[in-house]
Amino acid sequence: MDSTTTAQNPSNVAAAGASQRIPTIRIENIYKTYDLGEIQVPALRGVSLEIFPGEFVAVMGASGSGKSTLMNIIGCLDRPTKGRYFLDGKDVSGLTKDELASIRSHKIGFVFQQFNLLPRTSALENVELPTIYAGVPIEEREKRAKEALARVGLAERAEHFPSQLSGGQQQRVAIARALVNSPALLLADEPTGNLDSRTSVEIMEILQGLNDQHGLTVVIVTHEPDIAQYAKRALEFRDGKLRKDVSIQNRQIASEVLPTLPAPGADDDEPEEIAQNAPRGAANGGSPHETA
Ligand code: ADP
Ligand code: MG
Repeated sequence: MDSTTTAQNPSNVAAAGASQRIPTIRIENIYKTYDLGEIQVPALRGVSLEIFPGEFVAVMGASGSGKSTLMNIIGCLDRPTKGRYFLDGKDVSGLTKDELASIRSHKIGFVFQQFNLLPRTSALENVELPTIYAGVPIEEREKRAKEALARVGLAERAEHFPSQLSGGQQQRVAIARALVNSPALLLADEPTGNLDSRTSVEIMEILQGLNDQHGLTVVIVTHEPDIAQYAKRALEFRDGKLRKDVSIQNRQIASEVLPTLPAPGADDDEPEEIAQNAPRGAANGGSPHETA
């Protein structure tokens, strides 16, 4: 191939190092239409893509463009109306809900914008929960949950309840929960959407570490271009279609960016109202690249 300048051809970029490998995700011409009786809402309209092991992909696009619908299908939470989905080479499009649930609990970790932790349950118990569904022997569950908490730097917070943790810490617990069954794929739908700028970069640091050091395949949804800069590849959706697929130029490395950011105003160990409630950027008035 001679068109090698190529921010434009990421499937080739990905395939270049991966021609022998099976894609973690292979989607062939999928459609998703929500059937509301009277109305049909087309959410995805003919999407095809491949994501290979070790990729870090940011899914972008305006509200309503189909990002969450895509993530739910990739995550086996929902099925396409039409088209095929191969997860790790296995066609999962025709599986029953129970079969999908089993695949999900073994292969996929999920992180959400709202953290979705159980409130009156300790961090450790929150992280342990998916091991129960996955049938991990009872004597191994706590050990695995502790290891997962340690991987996100929260070993010493195991007994805290979500209300005793900052927004960033809660999201780290949620990431630990997503990791506890050693998934091949981590999916995160707006994982930094409820966090201030610095905390968002801290979350990206964890995700980059998992991707770099453990080879975990990561797919995140974000509508923030500065967060997408931490990924390796960006997909842009509009009106249920994939409009753009590019590799990230000048990728940001969170561990290098963090020291350039203003130090956290309050002690990071304390829960911060701002971290939980302010929209990202409002906390320090700008993007993570600004040094105020
Ligand atoms: P995004 O995550 O990019 O904001 P979504 O995938 O949530 O987009 O939504 C895509 C389209 O599908 C929107 O028009 C939305 O209103 C519609 N939609 C999403 N979920 C449902 C649902 N459960 N029932 C009906 N319509 C839905
Ligand atoms: Mg969404």
